[in-house]
Amino acid sequence: MEHAAFVILDQSSMSKPLKKAKGGKVRPQLLRGMKDILPQDAPYWDMIRRKARELAESYSFSRVETPLLEARDLFERSIGEHTDIVSKEMFTFTDKGGESIAVRPEWTASACRAYIEHGMVNQPQPVKLWSFFQCFRRERPQAGRYRSFWQADYEVIGDADPVVDAELILILYTFLKELGIQGLVQINSLGTPETRRKYTRGLVEYYKKHARKLCGDCKVRLKKNPLRLLDCKVPECRELVTAAPEIIDFLDDESRKHFMSVLEYLDESEVPYNLNSRLVRGLDYYTRTLFELWPDREGGENIALGGGGRYDGLMKLLGGRDTPACGFAMGVDRVVLEMKEQHITPPRQFQPDVYLAQLGDRAKRRSLKLFNDLRASGVRIIENFSQDGLKEQLGAASDAGVRYTLILGQKEMLDNTILLRDMENGSQEVVAFEKIVGEVKKKLG
Ligand code: ATP
Ligand code: MG
Repeated sequence: MEHAAFVILDQSSMSKPLKKAKGGKVRPQLLRGMKDILPQDAPYWDMIRRKARELAESYSFSRVETPLLEARDLFERSIGEHTDIVSKEMFTFTDKGGESIAVRPEWTASACRAYIEHGMVNQPQPVKLWSFFQCFRRERPQAGRYRSFWQADYEVIGDADPVVDAELILILYTFLKELGIQGLVQINSLGTPETRRKYTRGLVEYYKKHARKLCGDCKVRLKKNPLRLLDCKVPECRELVTAAPEIIDFLDDESRKHFMSVLEYLDESEVPYNLNSRLVRGLDYYTRTLFELWPDREGGENIALGGGGRYDGLMKLLGGRDTPACGFAMGVDRVVLEMKEQHITPPRQFQPDVYLAQLGDRAKRRSLKLFNDLRASGVRIIENFSQDGLKEQLGAASDAGVRYTLILGQKEMLDNTILLRDMENGSQEVVAFEKIVGEVKKKLG
């Protein structure tokens, strides 16, 4: 029997020896750099997801879900062949039909594909789309850099107005602020493709003079993707960056005007930003505005919590009509790390009012339905049917901070009653079994 329709061609994890547990049995384990979200962390994810939805609804974004798998070509064409993502980081495989497939490393390209494929160009523009999803990049795992991670992504397609860029930056900034993180926006403009060409020429001229000092990756970048020279994290290369030409001096008039207008909107909205001429970001499709958000604290410059920009040329590149667009993605895993770093804890989501305790087999059988009736009538109730002792159940009820505990024991089963215990003062009253739902609801008001 075949177990999987395809195999992800990840040589390192395929060749990695499987760990043997005691008794010689093979123990399956997570792929390198991939991550489970466990119950203790899930509340952070929930909190961020709620904020993502709330902002999306306020700013009229519509949610779109796209498949995890896309044609490999979609990302190669949009992100760019010589970017880190495409050249090194994509999980790709050939399926049994011979089709070349990639696991999505990001969402912008998928959003654009969906926009084109479903004729959203015929809807009133701009079309605002958002999503909350997992994506995959085969990077070297380290803190805040995983092979599986989550993003909240917002894209505005069909409007070149600088107000769109500013609105997106404001959303990203507000998102973090309302989670309790003070951010600082890093912003730059790449101008038009023509600006970029001219600037790239200037950059190559400068770097050729220093080629000997470059790291191995940068030597390749100099030939294949010179803009990415500015993005290198190696200290020697960073030093060279300080004297490199700045793109702002190469901007055409229209792009300069557009950029100034974005900045004016940010000033007006009191969003703190830093003009960062070294910001180029890792994808080829950007034009004009580029931005990232870093935590505004010492060491924050090494942590991009989110980033995005304008990509006016991408739709055409993907075979759609020439359509301006702008968007950003926030890195959820990094935001969770930052929340923990700053001791921000997610609020408790579900505060139960009632605990249902049961004693004896007959009571247990009856409590299953009673519990479900109370829950269905809107009472926030919890149980632990696996727990049989009254003392343990009362302890659990008090730990959960409920206002009332219902106790269904052998005597109550005989009398067709149930005990209602007020957890604050310990008083108990006997209630007829068939009246209990109404009685609890009345007590809770
Ligand atoms: P970086 O420069 O840190 O590699 P990037 O430019 O590759 O970031 P984007 O593609 O713009 O990142 O993705 C948006 C956000 O997603 C980033 O700002 C970051 O918060 C998050 N992110 C990117 N890659 C990873 C990863 N491997 N693990 C966790 N989060 C990530
Ligand atoms: Mg990256």
